[in-house]
Amino acid sequence: MTSAESPRASWDEYFMSIAQVVATRSTCPRKFVGAVIVRNRIILSTGYNGSIRGMPHCSDVGHMMEDGHCVATIHAEANAIIQAARSGVNIDGATVYVTASPCWSCFKQIANAGVRRICYGEFYRDQRIFDVAAQIQLELVHIPLPGVSLPGSPAPTPDPEPGQPG
Ligand SMILES: [Zn+2]
Ligand SMILES: [Zn+2]
Repeated sequence: MTSAESPRASWDEYFMSIAQVVATRSTCPRKFVGAVIVRNRIILSTGYNGSIRGMPHCSDVGHMMEDGHCVATIHAEANAIIQAARSGVNIDGATVYVTASPCWSCFKQIANAGVRRICYGEFYRDQRIFDVAAQIQLELVHIPLPGVSLPGSPAPTPDPEPGQPG
């Protein structure tokens, strides 16, 4: 007898869960984002929101704000593409799992890296990606975040009470 309530995750849930774990390494507390690049069910690369190599983390020295956004970090998807490039891994035809939908800049990079499918966990901020993805036959799929509860994951957490002296 097969159980209809099997707890076994689908492949999309599995890789999105891993992207959520990757997000916990983010160094900019404004937005924890993780990305995993996959082809044929094999992980090729991962990335999270982080500062330039050798530069201090936002979580240590504060943000670099511009037009309401922190621009200190390289975004998770871009870092995953960069990590693949550094190690000489071809990501043509791959799928990227990212916990938040790509910004316009990252979307362009994903498209020209040859990625054919984007799975995003939550909508972030740019609607243009849906229109352009349809025009270039880049599959853009919403995979609800599986709800892995880890520090820094997008699950809502109450703000800590400010400390009272004494
Ligand atoms: Zn920051
Ligand atoms: Zn981005």
